[in-house]
Amino acid sequence: MSASTKPPRIVWLRRDLRLADQAAFCAAAEQGPVIPVYILDDERAGDRKLGSASRWWLHGSLEALDARLSAAGSRLVLRRGDSVAALVALVAETGASGVEAVRHYEPWWREAEEQLGSQVELHLHDGNYLAPPGTVTTGSGQPYKIYTPFARALTALLPLRDPLPEPTLPTPAKWPHSDKLADWGLLPIKPDWASGFREAWAPGEQEAHAQLEHFTDHVKDYAEGRNLPSVDGSSRLSPRLHWGEISPTQVWHTLEEVHGKGADTFRGEIVWRDYAQNVIDQFPRYSEESYREAFAHFPWRDPAKDKGAAADLQAWQQGRTGYPIVDAGMRQLWTMGWMHNRVRMITASFLIKHLLIDWRHGERWFWDTLVDADYGNNGVNWQWVAGSGVDASMFPRIMAPLTQSAKFDAADYIREWVPELADLPDASIHDPGEGERPKAYPEKLIGHREARERALAAYRQVRA
Ligand code: FAD
Repeated sequence: MSASTKPPRIVWLRRDLRLADQAAFCAAAEQGPVIPVYILDDERAGDRKLGSASRWWLHGSLEALDARLSAAGSRLVLRRGDSVAALVALVAETGASGVEAVRHYEPWWREAEEQLGSQVELHLHDGNYLAPPGTVTTGSGQPYKIYTPFARALTALLPLRDPLPEPTLPTPAKWPHSDKLADWGLLPIKPDWASGFREAWAPGEQEAHAQLEHFTDHVKDYAEGRNLPSVDGSSRLSPRLHWGEISPTQVWHTLEEVHGKGADTFRGEIVWRDYAQNVIDQFPRYSEESYREAFAHFPWRDPAKDKGAAADLQAWQQGRTGYPIVDAGMRQLWTMGWMHNRVRMITASFLIKHLLIDWRHGERWFWDTLVDADYGNNGVNWQWVAGSGVDASMFPRIMAPLTQSAKFDAADYIREWVPELADLPDASIHDPGEGERPKAYPEKLIGHREARERALAAYRQVRA
């Protein structure tokens, strides 16, 4: 690619690590040489800095993007520090005419975009959601709080625009200095907890498309398969979509001509992702505190003050609760940075209702351990399970983990993730009785009936 004499344009990358259907790259390429920049910013997000699993994914995704850029004659410039300060400095250093970026909705990114825009020319683009958050509104122009009417209104806006092609990127005469990715320490060294991650995932845009192609062949079975933890029935696109290795518009277009219950149900889940982002767009602290006022007074067992609660929280994190389906899910999460959706619901419900621990402890654990940890999706789903959010309260609907495990045929899933139980037959693996439980497997932290009564009694104290 030949060097141009026009002033360069910076592309500020965050969770949009792709070249195709990436509006900031397209806009920059039309104006002059392009300098793609990723800034590792541990300052802006305060205590929301990237969790350990996210850091692992980020390393791989940046490496893959850099390889793609290099193959096209371009590069990825890496810097570390406060995003706004780093970008203002880069604009001055390179003589760039301005910055192009895809818009993000996490409160710290909104603040950064506002501050940056007041100091340099900044163009923000849509593209990480089917419809830009805030644009799907009621007849009177109000945003929706509840999923079903939101989904109906969003689907009425279809068909979507076509995905943007991958642009040719003109290069600058001189490249600014870049950090070395390896120096950022994003990968674990000792202990190396990521061997299961490496087995399960290969981050990057090309792998994201390969995964979508694989899933397209199986989408017809999605409606049933997605609920069965023992079956590889969902797309596993969540980290790809979170990091923007693939856009939801690309996913939607690929499946547009696929009809039937499987594809329709899948489209509904993609809309859930847009919905969650609309919730945090309206309520930026949604992942930090209960939306319903009554939950501020809920008699949670507090791990900071109560040793029993602290031990229970740790047992949940380590997958040693004595409930096989819960333990399988928590160990899957630890090993591969991802957990099946139904089991996310079961494990979240167990922490909140069986152990009576504030959903925010669970949200934080997921934030650190999920490769798809997403401020919107995580908070919205935790509050949905807790019944503390915008929907009608689900709190009294207490999931029975043992029944769920049998109903959704989780026997093989448990065998895979809880090897102590691998030899038990289907009839007892969901709830091994006293004579059957191997010594290495813990007793239940609390019985289901006792837990249910305790949770309902606690809820009665705050029910609005
Ligand atoms: P598929 O079933 O193939 O769905 C396709 C895509 O739709 C997903 O990749 C995801 O982007 C989106 N999606 C599916 N279900 C949901 C949902 N309930 N809410 C929002 N988007 C959805 N998802 C995250 O991406 N990040 C999180 O941090 C996260 N935390 C969660 C916490 C809890 C307590 C629960 C119950 C769910 C959470 N989810 C989260 C939603 C869901 O579990 C995952 O998106 C899904 O399991 C990912 O697997 P998949 O890609 O195979 O999903």
